[in-house]
Amino acid sequence: MVNNLRVVIAAAGRGSRMESSTNKQYMLLNSRPVLAYSLEFFEKLDVVDEIVVVTGEKELDYCEREIIKPFKYNKVSAVIPGGKERQDSVWAGLRKLGADTEFVAVHDGARPLLSSAVLYRLLEEAREWGAAIPGIASKDTLKAVDRDDFVRQTLDRTIVYAIQTPQVFKYEELMSAYQQAYEENFRGTDDASLFEHFIGRVKLVEGDYDNIKITTPGDMLIAEALLRG
Ligand code: C5P
Repeated sequence: MVNNLRVVIAAAGRGSRMESSTNKQYMLLNSRPVLAYSLEFFEKLDVVDEIVVVTGEKELDYCEREIIKPFKYNKVSAVIPGGKERQDSVWAGLRKLGADTEFVAVHDGARPLLSSAVLYRLLEEAREWGAAIPGIASKDTLKAVDRDDFVRQTLDRTIVYAIQTPQVFKYEELMSAYQQAYEENFRGTDDASLFEHFIGRVKLVEGDYDNIKITTPGDMLIAEALLRG
């Protein structure tokens, strides 16, 4: 198993599909901010020894005052401003961690429903392979289309996964991937795509269908229902 896991939580997204002026991470889910769920999760895990939260420039004070302090998230070492895109925010968070970091979990602040079973699977595999990410198989048939929306191909569902967070990496290797990505202007939609491109193989582990990312107003209702269940 991995000891001394450090965590970067990316919570600087504006969430344009939420139809709200409030950053989705600060919307209330059963009267607690969405972000508090992942903070609570990592705060309580013995294996975690430090958390860096990356949020919007204008939300730094709010996050400290209304979430970190009152809920006593003592493992949070810094709340820092994010960047233009997710990759920029995560890079800011990664640079905040000390060079003695061994493993890092990068998580979306917009995913409040994490499971410790998935995290432990990730830690196990990350220790062996250097990088592990959670994925879920599609319940629907998947098709690729051309530019005019005509079906080009029906994909093999057994080899395609929807990827979630947290994603766990050897810190040194993820830092090297990020460094090279910025040198070469490479952009990816998740952290693993940088690792795949510059470092090597990434191990997929079984994710959790409940680990949804809050993206639209309907997702808040789904999250509430999942919490009740
Ligand atoms: O926008 P999307 O939902 O894909 O963002 C995924 C995660 O990345 C969210 O938790 C969001 O807050 C974070 N993010 C960020 N900085 C950005 C954009 C997104 O931290 N510039």
